[in-house]
Amino acid sequence: MTTANPTSSTPQNSQNNLPAWDLSDLYSGMDDPQVNADLEKFKQLNQALSDTYKGKFAAISAADFLQALREVEAVSVLGSKLGVFAYLNMVTRMKDAAAVAFYQNIDEKMTEYAKPAVFFNLEINQLPETKIQELLADPGIAYYKPFLETVRRFKKHELSEPEEQIFLDKSVTSGGAWRRLYDELTAKLVFTVDGKNYNEAEISKLLQDQDPQVREKAGKEFNRVFKENAHILVYIYNMIIKDKAIGDDHRGYDRPVASRNLVNQVDEKALEALTTAVREQYANISHRFYRLKAKWLGVEKLQNWDRNAPLPFCTDKHYSWEESVKIVLEAYERFSPELKKLAEPFFNPEHSWIDVPPRDGKRGGAFAMPLPEQYHPYLMLNFVGKQNDVLTLAHELGHGCHMRLSVTQGELNDETPLTLAEVASVFAEMITFQSLLSQLDDDKDKLCLIASKVNDMINTSLRQIAYHFFESRAHEERKNGEISIERFEQIWKEEITASLGDAVNIDENSISAWPVVSHFYHAPFYVYAYSFADCLVNSLYQVFQEGSVDDFQGKYLTLLSETGVKRYDELLKPFGLDANDPKFWNKGLSLISSYIDELERLDKKLGL
Ligand SMILES: [Zn+2]
Repeated sequence: MTTANPTSSTPQNSQNNLPAWDLSDLYSGMDDPQVNADLEKFKQLNQALSDTYKGKFAAISAADFLQALREVEAVSVLGSKLGVFAYLNMVTRMKDAAAVAFYQNIDEKMTEYAKPAVFFNLEINQLPETKIQELLADPGIAYYKPFLETVRRFKKHELSEPEEQIFLDKSVTSGGAWRRLYDELTAKLVFTVDGKNYNEAEISKLLQDQDPQVREKAGKEFNRVFKENAHILVYIYNMIIKDKAIGDDHRGYDRPVASRNLVNQVDEKALEALTTAVREQYANISHRFYRLKAKWLGVEKLQNWDRNAPLPFCTDKHYSWEESVKIVLEAYERFSPELKKLAEPFFNPEHSWIDVPPRDGKRGGAFAMPLPEQYHPYLMLNFVGKQNDVLTLAHELGHGCHMRLSVTQGELNDETPLTLAEVASVFAEMITFQSLLSQLDDDKDKLCLIASKVNDMINTSLRQIAYHFFESRAHEERKNGEISIERFEQIWKEEITASLGDAVNIDENSISAWPVVSHFYHAPFYVYAYSFADCLVNSLYQVFQEGSVDDFQGKYLTLLSETGVKRYDELLKPFGLDANDPKFWNKGLSLISSYIDELERLDKKLGL
């Protein structure tokens, strides 16, 4: 039972006895009469909110406002239950037209039914601060303080109602239209290697092929196709940047990154400390690693398409599902028996909360799905027994445990930003990685495991910051007018070369594909959050290893339970950490460089 066959098709059944999830906790199936009953209830509750409270917040009593908050919370719980069920029911059988239609139907109806309640947040934002403070004096309302703060965080940048309406109406033909054009164009790109056609996801896989010639052909073709479409992709990006700048200008954001920082609840100073620390570590971390990698691949210089190539002397170890669960739970337990207790219910033999094997028609990748407190979170995997699958289980299970903890703050309050959403998962992956490593005796196996981890860490912690520098410069230069294809390529080349170092060759065959980073188009300034989250966890992990904080584990679990209601700076205080200080980020980055020290040591010992 080490691997499951990804091409066999047994939808909704467990394969090779690997568990499939059981959604009966939510509904017994698409034909469960409770689905329609709940949809109807969802519609009525939303309408009732509008009938009872619309236009009345200005003079509302504390008792009525509390009642309104509780009703909104109930609507939110019901909406989550319906929406999550429809989604989970679909993702394991995307080729089942009935399941897809069921999801679309629920989604459309809920969007329609929720419309009458749109006034709720808008009217909260129209309340003067004195009224909010008066309401918050009520202990019942004070419970919802994190929710109210989230709603009011953007108040300062909100425009008048008619202005907001114009922006909303025009968004369909401005930013939204450009993003749609980008999506439609990139989805249709065709890449041809040796007479065979590939889409973007397929050709990306070829870039990780064992055969260097396959990687080279794929890498060059990847770049060629983007270059061929550059005139449109660059135009779209120019428009998206300008569109954002117009909105920012009216809303009073002083810098292009400012609105994203507000969403992420990140201070400009902390971001500056992070990007500076990462840039200073380019040489010590990625340049050093790629020099080693070039040597291992037997070339003087790596090509851009070799960055994620597998090492020729490494073989993937295989793990059964039972072994993997055991490894992960033991790693959790070694860190904290409390954490293991949070994880164990996911493996309840009576009710499976995890969908484990890949199946025909099942979505790729892995995720954890949160649900309100009265339900249990679900995990989706595509487990085939590779070493990476063990780490993915650790990762998603980390999310699952985090969700079980943070949801106790309440359905409306739990608004964990992306920068904190990955703490538990990355940390869990780290303790499991250490555990896997400690079980290996063979030096080459150790080198392979560490090298693959470092490869991932560089892609997340360092590369995303190079992306951030690229988009920062793009938004800055756009202020002076449209940016040409060549100029974008120039900025890209400078930032990428700085991050990768002289062991990687970046030439005209690898500077045109930057528009593949869809976040540049869909969510400007999103990418730094990946690095922020990863580096933050690495710093925390270093503190844990140093043993300098009493009851680290207890404090860590408290941190997880409060990510939705407190900011990162407050959350880090019990650990003596300050994210505005570059030293904080260097602490995390030094973990990666210590792995590279170990790689150099093993490399010498093995005489590779
Ligand atoms: Zn994750």
